[in-house]
Amino acid sequence: MLHAKASALNGAIDQEKIAAGVRLILEAIGEDPEREGLRDTATRVAKMYAELFQGLHENPRDYLTVLFDEQHDEMVLVKDIPFYSMCEHHLLPFHGKGPTSLTSRAARWWG
Ligand SMILES: [Zn+2]
Repeated sequence: MLHAKASALNGAIDQEKIAAGVRLILEAIGEDPEREGLRDTATRVAKMYAELFQGLHENPRDYLTVLFDEQHDEMVLVKDIPFYSMCEHHLLPFHGKGPTSLTSRAARWWG
């Protein structure tokens, strides 16, 4: 899991820096970043990464604001919860589904 650096430009993602890195990758694999088909690739990838990593600068608590208490003690199982993330070892996206279960006595619910 990736974590945002505290000094990361007040939550902004430096797209110019990402684009410069993408140009270096293209050059490293023997491509010409200014070739017609690749001319806007670095900028496109920088925009995509800004969107993919936007969550690094957000606090989940800002979204989980509707809370309520329930007085049940049964097990609750929620299946097929989708998740989307980035592999921090390869900077590639991955996704899946996973179950979670909990006992409501020890939890607050959000919705
Ligand atoms: Zn990986």
